[in-house]
Amino acid sequence: MSKNYEYIVSGCLCGEKVRYDGKTKTIDKIKKLVTEGKAITVCPEVLGGLPVPRHPCEIQNNKVINTLEEDKTSNFKIGAGKTLELCKKHKIKKAILKDKSPSCGTNYIYDGTFTNKLIKGQGITTKLLQENGIEVISDEEY
Ligand code: SF4
Repeated sequence: MSKNYEYIVSGCLCGEKVRYDGKTKTIDKIKKLVTEGKAITVCPEVLGGLPVPRHPCEIQNNKVINTLEEDKTSNFKIGAGKTLELCKKHKIKKAILKDKSPSCGTNYIYDGTFTNKLIKGQGITTKLLQENGIEVISDEEY
């Protein structure tokens, strides 16, 4: 029987070492939602077939490009689609995602020049979830 989860959350916020650099960005109160059975984790980039560690990616003109200038857009789209499927499967209507990521960015993303400059914008997964009526808040807002 499937449980009633309230949230889907970025795995890297909950102790999973899934970031591009192989590290985590754990936030204890978000991780607690998982241990309490209120949330499930997801890493859209891993779901999209990208390895850990991986070359960092940024969004440039609606494409996702890594530091080797390889186009990884399709991996990001696959990961976003699988994340949405998980939300639908578990009837989840809220997400807490890691801001500034090209997948999970909620309020900000990097500007595509790999020079550490932030701009207002959303990651590929965040956009798809929002387009499908799922409320997305950032780790910083939670
Ligand atoms: Fe974390 Fe999302 Fe990046 Fe995965 S894709 S490492 S969950 S910010």
